Amino acid sequence: MQGTRGLFVPGPTNVPETVRQAIDVPMEDHRAPDLPDFTLPLFADLKKVFKSQSAQVFVFPASGTGGWEAAITNTLVPGDKVLAARFGQFSHLWIDLCQRHGLDVDIVDVDWGEGVPLDIYADRLKSDTERRIKAVLVCHNETATGVTSDVAGVRRALNEADHPALLFVDGVSSIASIDFRMDDWQVDIAVSGSQKGFMMPAGLAILCVSQKALEASKRAELARCYFDFKDMIATNKDGYFPYTPSMNMLRGLRQSVDRLLAEGLDNVFVRHNYLASGVRLAVDAWGLNLCAREPKWYSDTVSAICLPDGFDSAELLKRAYYRYGVSLGAGLSKVAGRVFRIGHLGDLNEVMLMMALAGAEMSMRDLGVPITAGSGVAAAEEYYRSAVNGYSDLSVARIAAE
Ligand SMILES: *Cc1c(COP(=O)(O)O)cnc(C)c1O
Repeated sequence: MQGTRGLFVPGPTNVPETVRQAIDVPMEDHRAPDLPDFTLPLFADLKKVFKSQSAQVFVFPASGTGGWEAAITNTLVPGDKVLAARFGQFSHLWIDLCQRHGLDVDIVDVDWGEGVPLDIYADRLKSDTERRIKAVLVCHNETATGVTSDVAGVRRALNEADHPALLFVDGVSSIASIDFRMDDWQVDIAVSGSQKGFMMPAGLAILCVSQKALEASKRAELARCYFDFKDMIATNKDGYFPYTPSMNMLRGLRQSVDRLLAEGLDNVFVRHNYLASGVRLAVDAWGLNLCAREPKWYSDTVSAICLPDGFDSAELLKRAYYRYGVSLGAGLSKVAGRVFRIGHLGDLNEVMLMMALAGAEMSMRDLGVPITAGSGVAAAEEYYRSAVNGYSDLSVARIAAE
């Protein structure tokens, strides 16, 4: 087809040209004497993205799933108890990974469309007088349902119970796009991946690890080799890696971090909220509902939208892809066929996002979904027009209000 295809899946996200060009460089010597001049400042700046001063960052050649595995194998012992809530495909998969590693997962099943149930977490932690729970898992942003959970609230529950468990956060679809505070929330391991907020191809798992988690790694007994923090610590301190790093991806990551810090993290968060708000107004104007049950769960990086009964979202995705060249996100697992998703994270602006809204709207009309032509697009358009200088107006207002 002619023209540009639209990529609105919630990862991989659109890669800015400067990042693509940074990746497209000749192969280089990963043991060059001046490599640390590049890697050490990169590690330091990555910590800023996690809002951490005291933690340590590790970059593995892997996708986010590898980051999950690194987090648990480096800190836990087979049979350790882990507290986790399941409310979508990603929270489910992390639990599955824990179980396959022989951990005893205390699973709290929650309706898909809600997030971490703070009251239940608080009860479980308080009643765990023997301190058998060694780690608490939080999927910060459940990408399958477009639900964001309250990590600070989980930290409060831990503190109120005076519970020493480690706090592990899956921030793959939140970090670098939704507010995340490693140190303020005393997160012990945050897992991220290159292909979402970092606006890169898939291929890097980026972890931020607290001193407490590094201490815990000394008693860890789960099998690990490639993902061992110890080998990373030994070589990273001089700016090198225990194996051949993907230098091209690291060059891209440098550019991505530069972009994030130049825009300002708080501005990045406001922009995501602003773009998401327009999408939510469009959904409302279509007369449809989000999978997320209440505003407190609404995700600023992905909207999962429920189709009316009798319509198949897989057909909608095919229509959007083949007829209009627009990729939307599928409904996964329990919500397959019922939900479609619009990813609104990474390198995006209003007009790019109008492509997703128009593509979804035209495809829904083609399928006979009873929505009014132009309704969603018009609602988003009027909202975006209201910020005359773009989101920077909102950003100034919001930062002033804080
Ligand atoms: C994308 C994603 C992952 C990681 O998936 P990979 O395909 O392994 O990168 C993990 N958790 C969440 C919430 C995600 O959105």
